[in-house]
Amino acid sequence: MKYDYLIVGSGLFGATFAYRAKQAGKKCLVIDKRPQLGGNVYCEDTEGIHVHKYGAHIFHTSNKEVWDFVNSLVPFNRYTNCPVANYKSELYNLPFNMNTFCQMWSDVRTPDEAKARIEEQRREAVEALHGREPQNLEEQALCLVGKDIYEKLIKEYTEKQWGRDCKELPAFIIKRLPVRFIFDNNYFNDLYQGIPIGGYNKLIEKLLEGIETKTDCDFFAEYKDSWREVADKLVYTGPIDEYFGYRLGRLDWRTVSFKTRIEDTPNYQGNAVINYTSHEKPYTRVIEHKHFELFGEEVYKCPKTVVSEEYSTEYKPGMEPYYPVNDERNNALAEQYREMAKKEKDVIFGGRLAEYKYYDMAPVIEKAIKLSL
Ligand code: FAD
Ligand code: UDP
Repeated sequence: MKYDYLIVGSGLFGATFAYRAKQAGKKCLVIDKRPQLGGNVYCEDTEGIHVHKYGAHIFHTSNKEVWDFVNSLVPFNRYTNCPVANYKSELYNLPFNMNTFCQMWSDVRTPDEAKARIEEQRREAVEALHGREPQNLEEQALCLVGKDIYEKLIKEYTEKQWGRDCKELPAFIIKRLPVRFIFDNNYFNDLYQGIPIGGYNKLIEKLLEGIETKTDCDFFAEYKDSWREVADKLVYTGPIDEYFGYRLGRLDWRTVSFKTRIEDTPNYQGNAVINYTSHEKPYTRVIEHKHFELFGEEVYKCPKTVVSEEYSTEYKPGMEPYYPVNDERNNALAEQYREMAKKEKDVIFGGRLAEYKYYDMAPVIEKAIKLSL
């Protein structure tokens, strides 16, 4: 039996592509080397709580087409991401907004007072630039929010996350953090956000309903040389350098390791996400998974809770490749691989790993929908 598509990877790219291809009457086989389907959005059930095994995932988008598409498969809940920062036990709301400013400075209570204080703090950094653009993350952050916020909420967190001094990091990383002079703790500016009711696995089940799948199946071990015998076309969502046998060299990644444990209390930290912004703690964030799906008194219906500490880690072969590294070497190498990919006949490269591009979930779905047409 020959398939129209052999799809390597059952993450959101592969699963969305398979769903659309099936709708168009195509026959697909989806394989994944992991023991389960869903790629990075897969959740494990522990104590009745959906644990985001490959990192906390919050769906957000302003694209109505994508939002309607996912909601047509599974309705989404009202989760709104409002992380809290813990700096040496002082608590601050994120992203930087009037709540943060009032917590940071006891004499600031109005937007005008907050603006004046930040302006005063920024001035020194802006003057030091003598008219040139900020060259690194430290300069960018100081020009954006000034010294107090930089030192308590940005500097050490960023150094933990990227394993490098803020002066050695590119300015753009910090540009996307919102600064608001209103009392609004919603981390995202998007129109829509939430978590699938019943968890991400439900979304993946719906996408892959009626489609043949194989887990524990590595493309390179089982199909690399023979895929044309089983399918007309290949959809590849694994790492692009691996596809080409690392011919031009290996791409670097940042990865995260998780220490997950059950706590014998119904409510450990009162929020899904707490960022630890000082070097005092070795982890960057602590995730309490139940808060993504249980609200108000529902939290107490489940007597235990599951928390994960996140440690940002330098990638070594064999680890999970999570974040592309945006430096010159890697960008240039990825571009060379992308050029090689364009020449591969009957192969579609898609998703985070195959494009070597940091994608949120919604753009991955959008892209898979487009390419499946
Ligand atoms: P993946 O989900 O990585 O799926 C690729 C699949 O391919 C994997 O299952 C892998 O096992 C399989 N595969 C690879 N090689 C082979 C092979 N040789 N043979 C067989 N199978 C193979 N986005 C958001 O919108 N919001 C968030 O809050 C958010 N948080 C994130 C947190 C972390 C820690 C990370 C890393 C990402 C986060 N993202 C978030 C991004 C999100 O995970 C991606 O957009 C999405 O998972 C990409 O889907 P994908 O199908 O491209 O890749
Ligand atoms: N950041 C920070 N303090 C925080 C949260 C974020 O300094 O409490 C910085 C950090 O440099 C990080 C960047 O903002 O890399 C982007 O953060 P975001 O949470 O948007 O990105 P993600 O961690 O999801 O990649």
